[in-house]
Amino acid sequence: MTIHLTERAPATGAGPEAVSLRAVRRVHGLGEGAVTALDGVTLGFPAGSFTAVMGPSGSGKSTLLHCAAGLERPTEGSVRVAGTELGPLGEHALTLLRRERIGFVFQSFNLVSSLTAEQNVSLPLRLAGRRVDRGAVRRALAEVGLADRAGHRPGQLSGGQQQRVAIARALVSGPEVLFADEPTGALDTASSREVLRLLRAAVDRHGRTVVMVTHDPVAAAVADRVVFLADGRVADLADGLDATGIATRTTRWEV
Ligand code: ADP
Ligand code: MG
Repeated sequence: MTIHLTERAPATGAGPEAVSLRAVRRVHGLGEGAVTALDGVTLGFPAGSFTAVMGPSGSGKSTLLHCAAGLERPTEGSVRVAGTELGPLGEHALTLLRRERIGFVFQSFNLVSSLTAEQNVSLPLRLAGRRVDRGAVRRALAEVGLADRAGHRPGQLSGGQQQRVAIARALVSGPEVLFADEPTGALDTASSREVLRLLRAAVDRHGRTVVMVTHDPVAAAVADRVVFLADGRVADLADGLDATGIATRTTRWEV
């Protein structure tokens, strides 16, 4: 069955959807060995909202993010980001859209080890052939509290600091949507808290839309609402979690 998340009052704002997936299926491989990672997911992420995605390992969380961010193409169904349908876009147009409208943060930071923090942050602008505004790069680093680490390479930074550089890199081009796949998964408690604060600020202060995969109920409690995946389907939705991981005002659907 189809789930229309937006028929319910969104947790924040009442604006249009920044990202929407309609009947998205994603199958890896062919024939006997085929694995259905997503099995008909219909979801909307309202602009200016913070959604956590939870679910067991292998339930399709990363695949959901990759499809929503244009990093993987769905086998069936459609994805719309900031008003643009991704399916008809060719590789070049998709790459441009990703660079300009979408930021992505990974569990393992994915910084370029030979580049300084400042060079890592300016990399998306360079790749896009945009003039690198050093002021903007410095401001992005200052925003994540690393103005004094601009010249450090990843190996000279803690895990938490590296993830903050990755967040600055994801936000420097001013994307509407930020996806984060277990961004605190490799961090200690204090660093996790700082990363969550930055993601929350991206929503509250800058009006961005954040979609974050996490295993951690404490991290999910920072979000406005939680999507639970199981076996590639939306199993449950909650308006939020309390810090103990208890879903609040949960509505259950047959799926
Ligand atoms: P999660 O992030 O929730 O752990 P994933 O989205 O990574 O789940 O994976 C969902 C399912 O798809 C799993 O069964 C996984 O093994 C499978 N899968 C993911 N990526 C690939 C791939 N590139 N090739 C084959 N199977 C894959
Ligand atoms: Mg994953």
